[in-house]
Amino acid sequence: MLYLSTRGHPERKKFCDILLEGLAPDGGLYLPEQYPQIDDAHLGRLRTILQTQGYAALAFEVLSLFIDDIPSDDLRALCNKTYTEAVFGTKEIVPLRPLGEGLLVEALSNGPTLAFKDMAMQLLGNLFEYELARRGEELNIFGATSGDTGSAAEYAMRGKRGVRVFMTSPHGRMSPFQQAQMFSLMDENIHNIAIEGVFDDCQDLVKAVSNDLEFKAKFKIGTVNSINWARLLAQVVYYFAGYLQATTSNSQKVSFTVPSGNFGNICAGHVARMMGLPIDTLVVATNENDVLDEFFKTGVYRVRGSTDTHETSSPSMDISKASNFERFVFDLLGRDANTTRDLFSTQISKNGRFDLSQHPRFALAAQKFGFVSGKSSHADRLRTIQSVYAQHHEMIDTHTADGVKVAREYVKPGIPMVVLETALPIKFAETIQEALGQSPTCPDKFVGIELLPKRVHVMQADVAQIKIYIALHCESA
Ligand SMILES: *Cc1c(COP(=O)(O)O)cnc(C)c1O
Repeated sequence: MLYLSTRGHPERKKFCDILLEGLAPDGGLYLPEQYPQIDDAHLGRLRTILQTQGYAALAFEVLSLFIDDIPSDDLRALCNKTYTEAVFGTKEIVPLRPLGEGLLVEALSNGPTLAFKDMAMQLLGNLFEYELARRGEELNIFGATSGDTGSAAEYAMRGKRGVRVFMTSPHGRMSPFQQAQMFSLMDENIHNIAIEGVFDDCQDLVKAVSNDLEFKAKFKIGTVNSINWARLLAQVVYYFAGYLQATTSNSQKVSFTVPSGNFGNICAGHVARMMGLPIDTLVVATNENDVLDEFFKTGVYRVRGSTDTHETSSPSMDISKASNFERFVFDLLGRDANTTRDLFSTQISKNGRFDLSQHPRFALAAQKFGFVSGKSSHADRLRTIQSVYAQHHEMIDTHTADGVKVAREYVKPGIPMVVLETALPIKFAETIQEALGQSPTCPDKFVGIELLPKRVHVMQADVAQIKIYIALHCESA
């Protein structure tokens, strides 16, 4: 299995070479040269494997179709170590539960940080440790977070040999629960840096450090952002697990609704569908930041400026552009790398937008690739949380509520609609309080987390100071 760039760079790479990288050298995103195909007999075998051996064994089967440069026994051991009941809370890892009206919820948020990013990040932590040890290398992850990604990365990398994490966040701006989650980590290799400023200041610091190629090479600076192919690949597995749990026969179809921001989660669904998993429809659900809904409705993709990006009550979907979207557009255009490059590098940087409404392949987004979309507002979110609570006495988080709202618009008779649960309500307690007049219950392992001692270094948004801090902590460990 070799990987190519969506912008046409001639080089082909193996999985472990792109594992530790971000963008391809031409600025494109990596995709496999072809999607491995799953026929009926193969899907039957996967059904038996999930039933008899569980999620980790299914993960191994799916991942090994894309990874041929890690010996099978090692890859199987990495999957077994990652997907355990102890880490993900249930034996099923991603159990389904009914929510009425043809809807099912797939629980992806019972990992260490109570958001679906753990599903991929936990595997990434183990893959990084394995590959760095094999190469005798080290990696220093330098990132910016406003919440979910940073904490998922820290919980995945804590205590891992060969990896350090330097995570910046806007000082005092994350929810108390999120601050407690990140800052209570006492592991030597985890460094929390609270920046006097807003999230954009943190991102600017990351960009400035990444643009200093000499510093970046000397201190082996890397990232774990959502364009990483290994993260996306790990997410493909739970589409298989969701499908297999929702059906008893391979002749049945299932649809998925995905609360979306950077298009990473639903892009994994697209990959599963391209492999032949019988997915009927992939429903993109956005919040008020509706870049993606606008594209699927009109064919126009328009990147938003920062003043045009709304702060919402489903904050992990507050994006101005969808960083994984280029992968889908490449497939939509019949893998035409020249056009993909023109759209994403020329037209976006010149005009901030492109328009495929007149392109003969735009209609295929729905017809051939099964994509539809919808959006949800703060009022929709509150109403959905209320109606689910009234009907099922169950609390859902704000992002999942955006999914349920849009999913209800696309249910077809006879086809189960699986909504991906991307976080637990306790992470967004304020909005739950607003909707229901009561706070969500806190899972046992998080009771009292706000009271734990905190380990965080507060700094100004000063590139020189940050570099000194990183250099100092790279040498001492
Ligand atoms: C990251 C995140 C999303 C968006 O996922 P993408 O892969 O960026 O589309 C949705 N909900 C929650 C809770 C998240 O943390």
